[in-house]
Amino acid sequence: MLLQRRTLCSGVASCSQSVPVLLPVFPSLNAPFATLPSAGLRTSPWLCEWYRRLDRLTVLAKGAAVEAPRHHQTPGQGVSKVNVIYKFGGSSVRDAERMREVADIVGSFPQYLPCVVLSAMGKTTNMLLECGDLALKTKTENISNLTPLKNIRKLHLDTCDDLGIEPVVRSEVERLINELEQLLIGISIMQDLTPRAKDSLVSFGERLATRIFASYLRTKGVPARQHDAWDLGLTTTDDFTNADVIYEASLPAIAAALAPKPGQPVEIPIVTGFLGRGQLSGAITTLGRGGSDLTATVLGAALELPEVQVWKDVDGVLTSDPRIVPSTRPVTELTFEEATELAYFGAQVLHPQAMQPAIRSGKMNVRVKNSYNREAAGTIISAARDMSCTVVTSIVLKSNVTLVDIISSRMMGQYGFLATVFDTFRRHKISVDVVATSEVSVSLTLDPKKIAGAPDDELSQVQHELGMMAAVSFRKGLAIISLICNVEKTSEILMRAFSVFQREGINVLMMSQGASKTNISLVVDGSRGTEAVQVLHREFFDGPSVCSITGLPLSQGVSVGLGNNGSSNGDHSNN
Ligand code: ADP
Ligand code: ASP
Ligand code: MG
Repeated sequence: MLLQRRTLCSGVASCSQSVPVLLPVFPSLNAPFATLPSAGLRTSPWLCEWYRRLDRLTVLAKGAAVEAPRHHQTPGQGVSKVNVIYKFGGSSVRDAERMREVADIVGSFPQYLPCVVLSAMGKTTNMLLECGDLALKTKTENISNLTPLKNIRKLHLDTCDDLGIEPVVRSEVERLINELEQLLIGISIMQDLTPRAKDSLVSFGERLATRIFASYLRTKGVPARQHDAWDLGLTTTDDFTNADVIYEASLPAIAAALAPKPGQPVEIPIVTGFLGRGQLSGAITTLGRGGSDLTATVLGAALELPEVQVWKDVDGVLTSDPRIVPSTRPVTELTFEEATELAYFGAQVLHPQAMQPAIRSGKMNVRVKNSYNREAAGTIISAARDMSCTVVTSIVLKSNVTLVDIISSRMMGQYGFLATVFDTFRRHKISVDVVATSEVSVSLTLDPKKIAGAPDDELSQVQHELGMMAAVSFRKGLAIISLICNVEKTSEILMRAFSVFQREGINVLMMSQGASKTNISLVVDGSRGTEAVQVLHREFFDGPSVCSITGLPLSQGVSVGLGNNGSSNGDHSNN
């Protein structure tokens, strides 16, 4: 008998035989067809709720309506140590409903005992930063009335109530929000918001989300324990707001902290993304915006796992930013190098450092999945892939770029000129993205994030220093279009790109290709950036493509999921 889930959840009878249960399957994961013993099958509102939301769940039962027993929701049955990392970003856990959905996902793969990394709920990180800025302009006695603080309080307490989490954890959530308010009062009194205080401030997002989620799992009978990443030993440099992971200290500490403890029950670790502890200061640090991806891969490397799954609100890494190009499609495979370039050149989908632990580990893959569309295969990111049929994989736009032209008549035959130029940027801690040199000049672009702090002062100082040996000019408001591509096909790619640009009247101010095996960068006027990405996407992805080698249709960029075309499932400009 084929039992639809509505039947299952409306009336439940017991069954005397073993019941094969077809669990939700990710095509790519070979998820199980489990045979569950029937003893003790009972109604479970949680399980009914779980089944109700699963699109394709079908339960096969002999003779009667049955329900799997409560303990079968627990992932990792018979598994004694963590064997996968799941990371859920802000949009995946933005409210109580999404937390339920994520709990469903966690409960869907009994062969996996996951460690779960969570970001802050929804846009909490942005709201926390807004609180900090407002606290600088708000009288101490008015801090509790700050709108973003009220919103944070409401979101988290409503979620606690909706999910029915343990009273002790609800109290802990209230205590943390009061602590947050005290910190804001401190900022208001001091009229100062240091990078260190900023990191403490934003840490509340992940600390709250993980406590709520762990408690929710426990209330559903799934053993889970919340961890602040620093308690597991995630140690970083003291570069507040953008700290680097210190792998030598972090990996062994995390491995020891998450190792199974003899005699102790197995509990799913629920870990704060984005946060660490500064090695020298001992203070809370953050890994830069979007840093939970990095936390997930650091944990995966520490535990020497074969796979880390980062669950987002899109069907995987896409052929471009879906907010710019509506017809994007998921990319099925990427290399670590491609993913890093894509992230570095501005694709929000992954943290630029997130592949480093996977590269270090040498045996770990990263899979990007959609928590809104589980059936989509997602993107698998690994060390190598067959590039023979690949032309362009993804197109990325980086806006607000500054171009610096440095022209020296003395460069000819001089040594040390480039060293002096780059040393100037190093001293001012300004990152350089794209570089092109000629005999007498060097042009380079500056990473907008790195000059966002005190741009004008910093840049005029740089201009002054470089001006002592060269003519220097700055041009702001430009855009870099990065083609993540197979540079063995450079001639074809450039020919097609330039003919599209010529047709559209888009002028390329600078280009760089060669150093990277995966990327061609074109600098254009900022006002044409979005349009340039759109026309290039049309050229390389829209319409039928066949592999010039096999003559077969290209799989790259073709959606293999059952769901949408990969567009975002929410307003998620940054959480
Ligand atoms: P999370 O909080 O889950 O880490 P992010 O917001 O950081 O999710 O990243 C996912 C978002 O990145 C998507 O909603 C999408 O709008 C944006 N994005 C930009 N470029 C790409 C791309 N090339 N592929 C996929 N998503 C992209
Ligand atoms: N919550 C942090 C952010 O919004 C980290 C993350 O989402 O990965 O940047
Ligand atoms: Mg992110």
